[in-house]
Amino acid sequence: MALKPVRPERLIIRPPSEWRSMLVRVTRGCKWNRCKFCGQYPAFGEPAFSVRDVDDVKDDIDWFAARMPFLTTAFLGDADPLCRPLKESLDIISYLRIKNPRLERVTAYARAQTMWKLGEPGLKQLARAGLNRLHIGLESGDLQTLKFQFKGQTPKIVVQAGQWIKNAGIELSLYVLLGIAGQYRWKEHCDETANALNIVNPDFIRMRRLWVYQGGEGAMMLENPLCHEVKNGNFTPQTAEGTVKELRRILSRLENITGSMVCDHANNYVTVEGRMPDDKEKMLAAIDEFLSLPEHDRNAHYEAVGSTI
Ligand code: SF4
Repeated sequence: MALKPVRPERLIIRPPSEWRSMLVRVTRGCKWNRCKFCGQYPAFGEPAFSVRDVDDVKDDIDWFAARMPFLTTAFLGDADPLCRPLKESLDIISYLRIKNPRLERVTAYARAQTMWKLGEPGLKQLARAGLNRLHIGLESGDLQTLKFQFKGQTPKIVVQAGQWIKNAGIELSLYVLLGIAGQYRWKEHCDETANALNIVNPDFIRMRRLWVYQGGEGAMMLENPLCHEVKNGNFTPQTAEGTVKELRRILSRLENITGSMVCDHANNYVTVEGRMPDDKEKMLAAIDEFLSLPEHDRNAHYEAVGSTI
């Protein structure tokens, strides 16, 4: 008879803001798994997608409830944990809440396409069960860029899903990827991204920088799928300075945002953060101050920051 694992199954990636959370693995890997700029789950040894048994997930929740009852936030992974049948997601979230009455926040990664398929009624059911926040990759508001990167979603879908999420009373974190359009479409990427953000007005805008990693770097075992396009001359990576200019261009075009903007990842060359709209000018000034440094200092800074997952 096979013995059940004693410890909870570990998920692979979580948002930095979830570092103190109960990390509950609901699915393994990414069901979509085709974004050229990503490849993270295969690179970390999880090439296939699978859905974990509800009873196994509940066993993990029991383990956390017994040994770490002091935790006040929980995060559901891996990449698209709510792609399983809605009934099962509701069962898991309700069980998590019942077993951990101290929880103040239950968060999950999600694909916009999956949330869009659930629709506003499905999202409202998740909110009633106790889901408080979703982390979603917008990456870019530029349709051409998303198509090239095989993101499997359009900006319209992200905007619609984002509005439904907010209407359901769930906090929305949207991720933006600086450099995703390369050197030749960066202005369209920035302008269309700002347009999409202005329509949705997410609670958090989280800035990230594209890293086209080679296989074997750090913990990554496989190369980023985008490497192939770079080698074939189909994609010219943005320069370090270019990504800082992208950050400035997007921020300068944000008009209707009342949430927070953060650069909460080690890859960001300039890490401004603040509440919109009050801190917008202060953040722009910080970027300008960096860009006015001598070229030698800026280049030394880019080198020192490096790249990590
Ligand atoms: S970016 Fe998200 S949806 Fe795309 S392959 Fe990576 S984990 Fe999957």
